[in-house]
Amino acid sequence: MRNPWTWQDRAACQGEDLVLFFGPDGERQAERDIRERKAKAICAQCPVRAECIDYSLQRPEKYGTWGGLNEDERASERRRRMRRGWAAA
Ligand code: SF4
Repeated sequence: MRNPWTWQDRAACQGEDLVLFFGPDGERQAERDIRERKAKAICAQCPVRAECIDYSLQRPEKYGTWGGLNEDERASERRRRMRRGWAAA
């Protein structure tokens, strides 16, 4: 069976502080916006961004920045893909 995590070996976020992607407790919106911009800048350079997005959308990854998408953006992308899937069926 293929290891579902092998793509992470090429992740641009390796060695980065996890707080940058998931945020600290009690974070205010202004701080969150700045943090997410920094995380998304790393994701934008990541060679496995597509794999990361797919992985996060296939699982209940409720928190954090994955593939350059925050929680709300992943929910939107999940809905978009579902609608696309229904339209193709
Ligand atoms: S897309 Fe972002 S969160 Fe995903 S592996 Fe790459 S750097 Fe990490």
